[in-house]
Amino acid sequence: MIDIKRIRSETPGCQHVLHFNSAGSSLMPAPVFDALQRVLRGENEVGGYEAERRAQDDIQAFYTEFAGLLNADPDEIAYIENATRAWDMVFYGLNLKAGDRVITHESEYASNYLAFLQQSRRLGFEIDLVPSDASGQIDVEALDGMIGPKTKLIAITHVPTQGGLVNPAAEVGKVAKKHGVIYLLDACQSVGQLQVDVAEIGCDMLSGTGRKFLRGPRGTGFLYVRKEILDQIDPPFVDLHSATWTETTGYELADGARRFQNWESFVAGRVGLMEAVRYARALGMSHIEDRVIKLAQDLRDELSTVNGVSVHDLGQKKSGIVTFTKDGIESKAIADTLRDQGIYVSVAPVTGARLDFEARNLPAMIRASVHYFNTHDEIARFVDAVKVIC
Ligand SMILES: *Cc1c(COP(=O)(O)O)cnc(C)c1O
Repeated sequence: MIDIKRIRSETPGCQHVLHFNSAGSSLMPAPVFDALQRVLRGENEVGGYEAERRAQDDIQAFYTEFAGLLNADPDEIAYIENATRAWDMVFYGLNLKAGDRVITHESEYASNYLAFLQQSRRLGFEIDLVPSDASGQIDVEALDGMIGPKTKLIAITHVPTQGGLVNPAAEVGKVAKKHGVIYLLDACQSVGQLQVDVAEIGCDMLSGTGRKFLRGPRGTGFLYVRKEILDQIDPPFVDLHSATWTETTGYELADGARRFQNWESFVAGRVGLMEAVRYARALGMSHIEDRVIKLAQDLRDELSTVNGVSVHDLGQKKSGIVTFTKDGIESKAIADTLRDQGIYVSVAPVTGARLDFEARNLPAMIRASVHYFNTHDEIARFVDAVKVIC
């Protein structure tokens, strides 16, 4: 069980704000902030390279902690500065050609879809949208029927940024495996709130960020790439760390997922994110998931009783993200009013996931995302605050 009193005392931000924005950027626990400060202090006192040398063990632990978290091998993990670039490093490295087909879903994240549009213009592949089932999640049976000889990639989002939906990632993985199609999973909103096991899911590549449900620092992210898939991806960029200049006319890529990393990076952030993963694992991802799902469902249930409020979350299984609108008031105005009271949420804009918003004819929504450090008292306070906004 999670000792909520201890957790909150280790989360200084809890004393200042009602934070329902872990899907945007969460609150760091004290050990993460301490780790960041330790490295930065070193940089200040002895310079960046020496500070990095002193942090070697923590830097190595980044790979083993993520491997433990995701059930991967340390060699399959890369540090990347954010989730978008992590995803890009594999997507832009795939050998997609004219006539190939890429399957995604309505819930797909804007940055990923923009990359599909950009690359399909350049290379001439087609984008296929797998339909949703009645609950709003990916229709796995329809997916199975859509895959043809030209299908080269299934790229979907596990937990979309704009709603409660948890896509059936492992069922999609079974279909991908059955047809031998490469499977790229955007797990930016799932890692840190749900148990994510790459072996169980069966994805070939998975990307995520540090600042959201993992509670790490900003400007940090990670990438998982299954060993067996490495030779099917040519990293879109190389440098003198991801590759070695072995002869004047040749080079060799680094082993494992590190071929996708930049040499220069935010060392304090790497160590801070490692510490965030260690913190989450010490609490136990199953405990975290249970509490997040329960709190979010309570929040949905409470909000549904408020006059004029509509909750818009989809899916059979729902996450810690709760989206809603209130009749007659723009979501931005609601968020502004809440902010004045020290209550933090995000507004999910139409441009964040255009296919989903257009299909459901939705305006911008309020996105209230809970984490395990939140409480039922906060939910009650939040719902009271929403009630009186008009
Ligand atoms: C936030 C988000 C991203 C982008 O993460 P960055 O670290 O900001 O690049 C990608 N996918 C989803 C689903 C997200 O919610």
